[in-house]
Amino acid sequence: MLQNKIQDVFNEPGCSKNQSKSDKERKKGCTKALQPGGAAGGCAFDGAKIALQPITDVAHLVHGPIACEGNSWDNRGSKSSGSQLYRTGFTTDINELDVVYGGEKHLFKSIKEVIDKYDPPAVFVYQTCVPAMIGDDIEAVCKAASQKFAKPIIPVNAPGFVGAKNLGNKLAGEALLDYVIGTEEPEYSTPYDINIIGEYNLSGELWQVKPLLDHLGIRVTCCISGDAKYHDVAQSHRARANMMVCSKSMINIARKMEERYQIPFFEGSFYGISDTTESLREITRLLIQQGAPAELHDRTEALIAQEEARAWQRIAEYTHRLRGKRVLLFTGGVKSWSVVSALQEGGMEVVGTSVKKSTKEDKEKIKEIMGQDAHMIDDLTPREMYKMFQEARADVLLSGGRSQFAALKNKMPWVDINQERHHAYNGYEGMVNLVKQIDLALYNPMWPLLRKPAPWDMREAQT
Ligand code: SF4
Repeated sequence: MLQNKIQDVFNEPGCSKNQSKSDKERKKGCTKALQPGGAAGGCAFDGAKIALQPITDVAHLVHGPIACEGNSWDNRGSKSSGSQLYRTGFTTDINELDVVYGGEKHLFKSIKEVIDKYDPPAVFVYQTCVPAMIGDDIEAVCKAASQKFAKPIIPVNAPGFVGAKNLGNKLAGEALLDYVIGTEEPEYSTPYDINIIGEYNLSGELWQVKPLLDHLGIRVTCCISGDAKYHDVAQSHRARANMMVCSKSMINIARKMEERYQIPFFEGSFYGISDTTESLREITRLLIQQGAPAELHDRTEALIAQEEARAWQRIAEYTHRLRGKRVLLFTGGVKSWSVVSALQEGGMEVVGTSVKKSTKEDKEKIKEIMGQDAHMIDDLTPREMYKMFQEARADVLLSGGRSQFAALKNKMPWVDINQERHHAYNGYEGMVNLVKQIDLALYNPMWPLLRKPAPWDMREAQT
């Protein structure tokens, strides 16, 4: 069953890689054998957990040895406006006896314990490598527990060994499609209802965009999965339009919702001023197409004019300090073309951008923004990155925490823009924030002090 699901995900017609394949190639799926180290950036379980953990009011129970949960617990900074239950780590912590006799009873008892103590609206049960290899059937256990406790118990069957993080994201999407979305009816719906898919509310980024939509009377009925509540996800099939924020992670949800519930979707981004504007326009266009009053268009344009002017005014305070500064952009999940255009809006020059996880269209968009000579980096080793800073070919590094030392060891500033970041960069407000953080990093007064030779070196030079 899991094999069929994986094949189904690999054959996803919405996936841009699949679109470029012939029918015959597509039928074969993505059969490339995994190489050792293929899950180094996170295993499939990790990907599934990242994708679903931001659903705030459910209990996320990991069936496996304690390290699987310990490895990924609460490291994403996804914010909640209500319940904090999602931040509690639940695991069956299976032991040798479970491996010998099977861990299904242990899992059932753990589900009962979680429900007795916390009474969440649902429990998500995550499969990991060890119980998958000994043959624990989490689907069967979840079904029995659902009947016994009269509560949705959702199996998320993405053990780590089946592939990398991205596959896990998609399998998580499949779990929502199979067991959650469409299982409840909302009390009411309006012509202004949308879902945002692939937005995880990292550092509260969703809340930088929601006020704009609120201002227009557009209701975010569900965000999958940032700051989501279980019942909102279950009722999300009544929205009028879907926005896909990160196409690689959950395209299967958007496409299948279109197929099953006739909800049109578009792919957009809230990184950067022009992308935010484009996304607001596209949301409005889809809602009007789906029956919302046409006057929404004029209200959207008025809001865009007002917000853009305000953002530019605030960015102008920094542009003269940042103009011409050279940025090396090394990002994983965040769509690099969105960040490239955001940086250019701030007057900076992007000397290189990673495209390791970018789709063909992403690369085309980068070329469009940066020109045909765009320096796109498929994979930059830490040594090469270090050399770039040593030779002063860049002034600041924007990346995740793992590559920060390439800049810091060269006494160059670094700004965290990956999932673990502490600042929110979405929407107009977010762009101002990003520019402000780059400015703070570049003009931190410690750099001149740090770059000065040490007093003992100066003494030696004098003697
Ligand atoms: S699911 Fe497997 S690969 Fe992932 S953390 Fe657990 S043991 Fe490691």
